[in-house]
Amino acid sequence: MPSHFYFPFEKDFDHYSPKVLDGLSEYEKYQLSFHPERPKYLDYLSIFSEVGECLQREEFGANLIQTHRALFIINDEEIPVMLIGQQSGPTSDYKSFQQLATDPELIKSWNHGMPTPASYEKAIEAVALANNESRLIIVFVDTPGADPTEGSEAGGIAWKIGGIIQALVEAKVPTISIIINRGCSGGAIALTGTDITLAMENSTYLVITPEACSSILYHDRHHANEAAEISQITSKEGFSHGIVDALVEEPKGPAHRFHEESIQSLKTALIKNIKKLKEIPIDGVFENRVKRWSKMGQWEEGIKVDRVMKFRLPVPNSNGYIKRHNGCKDQNGKRVFDPVSLEQLTKKDFVCDNCGLRTIRLSAWDYIDLVLDPNSFKEHVETASILDKDILGFPGYGEKLVAEREKTGLPTAMITGDGKIDGNDVVFCTNDFGFLGGSFCMSTGEKIWRAAEIAIHKKVPMILQAAGGGARMHAGCSSMVSIPKAQLAITRVEKAGLPVVTIITDPTLGGVAIGYGSRGIRLFESGAGNIGFSGKRVIEQYTGHPVSKDFQTTAWLTKNGHTDYVVPLRELKHSIKNIIGKNISE
Ligand SMILES: [Zn+2]
Repeated sequence: MPSHFYFPFEKDFDHYSPKVLDGLSEYEKYQLSFHPERPKYLDYLSIFSEVGECLQREEFGANLIQTHRALFIINDEEIPVMLIGQQSGPTSDYKSFQQLATDPELIKSWNHGMPTPASYEKAIEAVALANNESRLIIVFVDTPGADPTEGSEAGGIAWKIGGIIQALVEAKVPTISIIINRGCSGGAIALTGTDITLAMENSTYLVITPEACSSILYHDRHHANEAAEISQITSKEGFSHGIVDALVEEPKGPAHRFHEESIQSLKTALIKNIKKLKEIPIDGVFENRVKRWSKMGQWEEGIKVDRVMKFRLPVPNSNGYIKRHNGCKDQNGKRVFDPVSLEQLTKKDFVCDNCGLRTIRLSAWDYIDLVLDPNSFKEHVETASILDKDILGFPGYGEKLVAEREKTGLPTAMITGDGKIDGNDVVFCTNDFGFLGGSFCMSTGEKIWRAAEIAIHKKVPMILQAAGGGARMHAGCSSMVSIPKAQLAITRVEKAGLPVVTIITDPTLGGVAIGYGSRGIRLFESGAGNIGFSGKRVIEQYTGHPVSKDFQTTAWLTKNGHTDYVVPLRELKHSIKNIIGKNISE
């Protein structure tokens, strides 16, 4: 009978020397970061006094984030805290787990550590309680990612994750997060938009699993080690990139063999860092946060890139017809080639009446043309020279950036500028799906940040057009860490009493949806699809069965109660004018 869990690479069962740890492959380090016996959130409660659970809920997945009121004691001072912790499984004790594993229902209830909308709702409520009760917020991060199922999409998981990021960047009390094991993808960034982020020495902090990254790069899952190496997924590397503030030393062992020593090590780190947070005057919490996030991210500046307006809205022939979209098939699977009337297609929100597919994805230049007064767009000089930086030396990324600039006529996926809507001044941020899938990256975070400051300075509304499939894997976890920065920028505009309007287009997924796609007064483009957190293909792969027919379309989102306003493409300008007109006159 074994007495512990062992991974195949665990040669020295009871003790890892620093040399052994350094000698592990990147993929082995990744596996070690979620060793089932590493201390979990509930194990760390022993650091605190007078711990009491709050916000118990019954819904599926609510157990994956747990919340506790407690006191943290430094010398004789009792500091009231709110603990929000991702608990990725029932226990870290091997023997208890062997017993619990005989109950399949119980194991199912832990959902492989993947939080659901109910989990994040609980976290949002806990932040509100902490604000009311003046409790410092301490967040524990431990997850392989948020739940990729149709059920979670129907429950609005993208908007719940967006909601907890917003709650944390707007918290009235100081906040600190600790990545204790594996902090992966949107499920983790949901909780790390804090004033300080610590990480256990052998934890990992990553935007995409090495297996999924391998699938994209090599078209199979067998190159996970190379993918892990390229993506620099350990928290130690996160620290070197400036997205982790400090590493918490683990005993030689490490944490999964020496629980108590690791827990005490975190306690020491918390004492040091909470002392720093206590120095911030309570009316300076928000300003301190703004100062911290203003420095987040890396980009190039100063290289000149030409702009070329590239439109994707088709121009009809003299009869008003355009070419039918590629790959159109009738119900018998036969290809259809006849041209279609642009007027008819526009009336149907560009959804093909033959096959039901949305047939166009507009460029950033198209949205400038459709939403703003003619020739009113002037790119901000403050954002014009920002370019993406290849911080990881990611294979092919440099060449790709050059090709994408050429293809879209844009410097980065996002372009920001001043413009007018029926004579009203606005700041306009528009994003192009054609530029590396419109993926959210550090340049996006910085551009939204500077555009927000311009909107505040000029006292004008901020309009954002969301498009993109997620966070950009080519810059690793750093891309993802710019998401709370964009949210904080938008909060600053709203705090200045200025309207923020976000146009949600096809696609708005993952890092785009949980970031600026979650914010402002949102106009969902009618006929659009691919709106939510996990993409259709990811969900189908994970669950093994197809999603429903109109899944993640604006109509489906409306049915599930997630749309604020649904607006046809041609009416976007008019709707925005009405919204900003009303908000400005109020
Ligand atoms: Zn079609």
